[in-house]
Order: sequence, then structure tokens, then C-alpha cells
Amino acid sequence: MKFHILTLFPEMIRNGLQLSVIGKAVENNIIAIDAVDIRDYSMEKHRKVDDYPYGGGAGMLMQAQPVYHAHQAVTGGRKVRTIYVTPQGMPFTQTKAEEFAAEEELVLLCGHYEGIDERVLEEIVTDYISIGDYVLTGGELPAMVMVDAIARLIPGVLGNGISSEEESFHNDLLEYPQYSRPEVWHKKRVPEVLLSGNHSKVAAWRLEQSILRTADRRPDLYARYQARKCLISQLSREKRNHIHMIESLARGRAEVLYMDDGMEADREEAGNGKTVNETNVSETNDAESMGSMDVVLYDSRDRICMISARTAASGDKVARCVPESAEYVVASHEFFDIFFNGMSEEFQGNRKNYQLCGRYIPMLYTCKAALSVKWKKSIPWKKSIPWKNSIPWESIRSLSEADWSLLERITAEFDYGICCNGKKIRTEEQVRDYLQERLKAGVMYGIFAEENLAGVIGMHKGGSVGMLYVDLPYRRQGFAASLTAYLVNRMLEKGWTPYACVPADNMAAGNLLDKLGFYKAAKEVSIYQREAVQP
Ligand code: SAM
Repeated sequence: MKFHILTLFPEMIRNGLQLSVIGKAVENNIIAIDAVDIRDYSMEKHRKVDDYPYGGGAGMLMQAQPVYHAHQAVTGGRKVRTIYVTPQGMPFTQTKAEEFAAEEELVLLCGHYEGIDERVLEEIVTDYISIGDYVLTGGELPAMVMVDAIARLIPGVLGNGISSEEESFHNDLLEYPQYSRPEVWHKKRVPEVLLSGNHSKVAAWRLEQSILRTADRRPDLYARYQARKCLISQLSREKRNHIHMIESLARGRAEVLYMDDGMEADREEAGNGKTVNETNVSETNDAESMGSMDVVLYDSRDRICMISARTAASGDKVARCVPESAEYVVASHEFFDIFFNGMSEEFQGNRKNYQLCGRYIPMLYTCKAALSVKWKKSIPWKKSIPWKNSIPWESIRSLSEADWSLLERITAEFDYGICCNGKKIRTEEQVRDYLQERLKAGVMYGIFAEENLAGVIGMHKGGSVGMLYVDLPYRRQGFAASLTAYLVNRMLEKGWTPYACVPADNMAAGNLLDKLGFYKAAKEVSIYQREAVQP
């Protein structure tokens, strides 16, 4: 990712961002930071960039021309998301950081003095962002704050993509207290549970501490956390069908863009002569055929929008809430095809470029017990398969970017997701890019046999288990089950409910998950992708 920072003080930016994690990420070419001196673009004598504001008032204003030309120089007229840091902007939050982290390139414009001539802002700025309700002397510190928060979400910057998912603000909760050596300091002992080595007890204790801390220090966040929990419990009435939504909320990835459980309508209708019981009956019947509520969730980091609706009519409203930045739409009902698949010209507008990737059956593992990854003895239905003595002890580990050539070699045959109903929806290059991105995110795992990469599995954008592939010579030996078990266990350690979205026609994957104890949802979900390849 590339950050262009337009500033009057480029040295301040260079010095401020050259050390520690961000400095290392620049050194390793994971991110690039380009501090652009706005003065270099001044057409005035003495590189002047400011003047008095019309109408009077204290202080000077940055003029439009140098800012405009600096912007033109870095973008070359391309459309690049351009953020003006200003106390008059939307608050900068973790969710915003996640949204910006998905961009390839960002321009951050730093003001100084009393600000910048409004006319140039109108022409180049896409987002106005504030880092807090106070006024600083310049935009350099806000820009650095933003670069730091955004960059650490970029795969590879922190080493492991999952680690940033455990911090404050994920899930609207502050992080739990942390302790390091020694075990006793100033007569204070480290809480016993942290020394127990019991992952699930540690996770439960941490969650409890996070909740207590948030309620105490940030009642506003705590209220949001409770509202999220309430929505999760409403969606859990149809847990199998809504597992992708529930997990996105529970893992703190999705925010609620729209929600209507129909209760308000019930109350209004009851006031218009219908009894509450009558309305409830008709709603219940409707809800059985569609979803239990109208919901639009958005995972801005992975740009996945999840939608569900009670009726086809309310589905129209729901579909219109899909943000334009959404790359994928996961819809719980087929009637959304009307909106995304070419049947409603009027609706589509700029959404014409969504295309059905396929229909998937959500499958979830609700048991809390870890699965055994030692397929040799413990997978009952495999007992009869003779063990190949020629293969020494296999191992599973997280794959890193250094493993790309291995992954590329064995996945050359991958065809998952490329075709749907005979239509080509993703090019091989897109699949390669996707795998590379997942590898960078630190969520791919490989099983090794005879020092060869024998199979892989990973976590999809959105958080489902997927991308399972075992190389031909290693099939029918339980490798796929072991890989799946391994990833399931990692997710259980985090307190998540492991789930997969299995292509409706992939019997083998469905059967494997079934045998491992996954349950199938009653309804399929449809996944649409933006900018898909035309057949
Ligand atoms: N007169 C401006 C106003 O009242 O909105 C404030 C100008 S401030 C002194 C100068 C520059 O600092 C701004 O143009 C902006 O780039 C930056 N700045 C100050 N406070 C900020 C904040 N809380 N968040 C983001 N940027 C800020």
C-alpha cells in the first residue's frame, strides 16, 4: 500500500514514521510512504503557499493552487481516495482504519494555519477525517496517527494478520489486562488462570475482563457491544442460516448498516386495528419463508456486505443499503438475484457489475471440543485405510510469504470458485492474487509430507474455513480431515464458531465436514462479486 502525504513539513513525516514497526514495513517494501512538500508546487516567488482569508479573520489560509498541483503530481489525475485531516471531519475509528487499509493507495492532505481554501478541497477530497474533538496546529500528527493505525492492519506489517483482531475496539470491547514476567511483582500475582495453559479458560477470562473494563471505562462502547449481542441473539434464532452474519458480528468484523426486525411495523399495524397477535401470526409465516429480520451488515476490511430480508419487498430496501465499496455481497435469499443479477435494470444503476459467484451451503461446527488432527488412528471412518509407512510423520504449520512458491505449485490445479454454472467468474490470476493475499494475511496452513507441501487450507475473507486442497499423491489418507481439524481448533481457541460455505455442488467437501461434526444450514446463501469476469 502506498501513502502519499501532502504537507508543508515533509521532514516531520519522514522522521516520525521511520522507526519501529512502520519503519520496518517501509524497509521491507510492504508499505511506501511518500512525503510530498506542497511548497515544491507553489508558483509564487519564495515558494509562498498561504494568504489572508477573504472576509477577514485571524490567521492565514493555504492557497488552492499549490495543493491542487501537488495532488495532481502524485495522482496524475487518477481517482485516488484523498483524505483531508481536519477537526471538521468524521471521527477516525478502528472501523475507518480497516476500511482505508483495503485501499491500494491513499492521499492524506495536511492543513496548516487556519486551514485550506475550500475550492480545492471540493475538487480533490473524498473523505474528511478528524482524529478527535480538539484543534491541533497542523495535520501532520493526525496524518501520522492515521498511517500508523492503517498500516498495522496491512497483512505482513505485524507479521500475523490474526493478531490485530484481538485488540481493543474489535467487537466494541477494550482489550483485557495483560501481564508479563515476573509472576509476582510488588506482591501482586499474575491471575492464576493465565498460568493454567488452558486456552479456553484463558479466552473466557479475557472476554470477561474486557467486558468489565469496557463497562467501567467506556460506557458508550459498552452500549454498542450490548446492542451487537442483542442482534446476535436475534439472528441466532436461525443460527445455521445466519452463521456468517453471527460470526462476523461476534468476531468484531462487521458493523450494522441497517436493521429492522419488523416489531415497529407490528406495533403500528396493531394501532390500526389489527391485534398484536394477528400481526405476529402473519409475520411469523412470512418469516418462515424468508429471513427472520431485515439486516445489512458490512465488513469494511474485507468489503463483504451480508444481507437478509423478511420479504421480497423489504429485500429491495435492504439491497439498496449495500455500500458501493462492497466487493462481495452474501445474500440469504435467492430473490436478491433480482437486484444483483440483471433482472431489475431500474435498481441496478451502478451495481450492474455484481455477478453471482455461486450458491453455498453454510456448515458450522457447534461443538466446543477440539478435533483430533492425528488422522492415523482417531478418524473412525478411516480406520480401515492402511497407513503408508513410506511417509514419515507429517506436520501442519502456518504458511508464510516465503512458502508462496510451494503453495503456487500445488494449487496450480485449483479451480474452486473459478466457474459457476459453466460461466467463468474469476480468472486464474484473480485466484492467485486472492491466495497471495490470504498468505500475507497469515491465515493459510499447510500439511507437509516428505518435506513436500501435501495440502493446504485457509480462512477466507469474511472468516469461513475454505481453500482446502490436497495434492494428488496424498489423497485418501485423511490429510484433508487433519487440515480441517487443525484450523477448526485454532478458531475454537479464539472462541469462534468455525463455519464453512460449501459450494452447493461440492459433495466431497460437504461429506468431509459432515463427518467431522459440522451441521448444514437449511438454506443456501448466494455470493455475488463485483467486477467479475464476463463469460
Ligand atoms: N480553522 C480550522 C478549524 O477550525 O476547523 C482549524 C485549523 S488547524 C489550526 C490547522 C490544521 O490542522 C487543519 O487544517 C487540519 O489539517 C489539522 N488539524 C487540526 N486539528 C485536527 C484534528 N483534530 N483532526 C485532524 N486534523 C486536525
